[in-house]
Amino acid sequence: MSVYVNAEPSSLTQLGEGQPLPDLDKSFHVLSATLKKGVPYCLKILSTNVKYTGAGDVDGVTMFAFNGGGAVKEKYQQYLNFIRHTNADASHVNDWLNTSGDALEKDDDGDGQNDLSCCMGFKQSGATAVNNTAGLDLITTKAKTDAAFNILQTNRQQVFICKYLEEYETRRPWAGRANACPGFGFIIIETAGPSVLAHEWGHCQGLVHRDSPPGNQNVMHSKTGGSGRWINSAESAAFMPPAK
Ligand SMILES: [Zn+2]
Repeated sequence: MSVYVNAEPSSLTQLGEGQPLPDLDKSFHVLSATLKKGVPYCLKILSTNVKYTGAGDVDGVTMFAFNGGGAVKEKYQQYLNFIRHTNADASHVNDWLNTSGDALEKDDDGDGQNDLSCCMGFKQSGATAVNNTAGLDLITTKAKTDAAFNILQTNRQQVFICKYLEEYETRRPWAGRANACPGFGFIIIETAGPSVLAHEWGHCQGLVHRDSPPGNQNVMHSKTGGSGRWINSAESAAFMPPAK
């Protein structure tokens, strides 16, 4: 078992060896890490490094001391610019940012086997822009797909929101589409599932589909409708680097 904790260094309290923790949520004994104020970090604390410090620490509260040894990584925040077609609803942007970041960050099976924790999240950069190009609310042809990608230019941090997106080769409806792998920018439909944003970002970072068992819970699965939450170590590494 591993315990993952998000912590702001500004709220960390440096404690001496064996000293009880006054506030379990905000205080960590960090043995060998240089932390910067105001930067979010993920602390991976292994259960083997957690010890019970006794009943007398704080009245009525069971206290544990983290005995060091955990990996400390700065949490990476990927900023995205959203452009919605004037007929498309952008009210789910915050949900997508939160649910996709949550899917990447959490070790959902709890043992690091089928799913790992990727120490990153998504944030919106600026306000959602509006595009009123006729016909790009319903993207059903290659010409319209190309036109949408042209709006995104060559910036992989740009996201175009439409009402409906069809894979023009097979006429199947899609929840999102990146223009290349690795690529620049992606299209997402207004009703996209919780992990579609993470899935398309994965394509922008060069990840391909992974449908193999256990399969249908993978973020990079081709047919989950954007509900997958599992990533492996190679995917975790690929999601993290900043856009180039
Ligand atoms: Zn895909």
